[in-house]
Amino acid sequence: MQRCIFCEIVAGRTPASRLFEDEHTLAFLDINPVSPGHALVIPKEHMETLLDVPDRLMGPLGITTRRVAAALMRATQAGGFNLQMNNYRIAGQLVPHVHFHLVPRHAGDGLRPWHGRPTPASELESMAEKVRATLT
Ligand code: AMP
Ligand code: ZN
Repeated sequence: MQRCIFCEIVAGRTPASRLFEDEHTLAFLDINPVSPGHALVIPKEHMETLLDVPDRLMGPLGITTRRVAAALMRATQAGGFNLQMNNYRIAGQLVPHVHFHLVPRHAGDGLRPWHGRPTPASELESMAEKVRATLT
């Protein structure tokens, strides 16, 4: 396997502004923050995308993400936050070690992480049908 920058951070061989860690997870600040306090939450074990995360790590990741999100809200006096995750290159994943982005948000910060489009219920329902058919 090629050298993984996030595995290097877990091992302490690459410096990072670490926020929290427990047995399975680590949170640290992103070096290119979208807003002050932009943090990343990762499993300590290497895996590439959400689809590779075993059930036993989903709970720990969710709990750390929530805990760090609450701390970021307090620390930055944010009014809210975005939880974002990029999976696979086509979706903008540059670091192939699974990570959740936590981005604190403030009124008038101008960030527009997502643009939606009003969609008729019939269109939504036919998409929902396709997804339900592929659930495993
Ligand atoms: P993504 O595009 O979802 O793979 O995001 C990768 C994120 O990792 C980017 O926001 C980078 O700024 C961030 N990043 C890359 N290297 C480091 C590092 N050494 N320490 C902290 N954050 C990093
Ligand atoms: Zn890794």
